[in-house]
Amino acid sequence: MQFNYFDIHSHLNLKPLYESRAGVLARMKEQGVGTITVGVDYGTSKIAIDLAEENPDLLWATVGLHPNDNVDEIFEYEKYLELAKHPKVVAIGECGLDYFRDQSEETKIQQKEIFKKQIELAIEVGKPLMIHARPSKGSMDAYKDVLNILESYCNLQPATFNLLCNFHFFVGDLSIANRIAINGWTMSYDGPITFSTDYDEVIRSTPIENIMAETDAPYAAPVPYRGKTCESWMVTEVIKKIAELKGMTEEECKQAMLSNVKRVFGIE
Ligand SMILES: [Zn+2]
Repeated sequence: MQFNYFDIHSHLNLKPLYESRAGVLARMKEQGVGTITVGVDYGTSKIAIDLAEENPDLLWATVGLHPNDNVDEIFEYEKYLELAKHPKVVAIGECGLDYFRDQSEETKIQQKEIFKKQIELAIEVGKPLMIHARPSKGSMDAYKDVLNILESYCNLQPATFNLLCNFHFFVGDLSIANRIAINGWTMSYDGPITFSTDYDEVIRSTPIENIMAETDAPYAAPVPYRGKTCESWMVTEVIKKIAELKGMTEEECKQAMLSNVKRVFGIE
């Protein structure tokens, strides 16, 4: 299938989208929108693969354990390795560090440990990382810790090794964005860029090669769908806004987004 648009991060594997997936998929097909269904724990990672198998033209999957969505799960490397090898799995995650609600040292140590295992998994299977980094209020702490960890891994790898990373639902400042771009990595934006000016300066200053578009559906619907359940096809509004901020035509921006998806996730 030839895509018009691509949403690099959504959750067709979660409520309420999973229950209404037939309709959601029909609307995506109609508009030529594909997506990556992102796992947040072992169960939802398996569902993401099942969905991708059932809808091979529209859906791909990631497998991973979110830093605080399911704190009771114990990360089992071998079990995730089995899933990660699946040909429809295009990234490991969403994984990373989330200091928004809890900044205790104990939580940070635990999150870092699980994150490192998933970096090792991404390196073993040679697939990119879908990063979830959420700092505590008024700080960039989680981004700095994620970047320090990722850069230390890259320094250990042979020069020929290229670990790819995308920072999903990016809310970082210009210095964090620059550090991501210098490493050749990407950051993806969501609905909030359509109703907040907080992101304008960073998007204007970041090369288009380092920017991706996503919805994080069912969360964070863009204008003019605010308050509704977000679906992947609404990514068109995010792309429109990126085009406006970058001074590109919508068509140019759309093509740039598709070529980034191909480069990072191998999807075309
Ligand atoms: Zn997500």
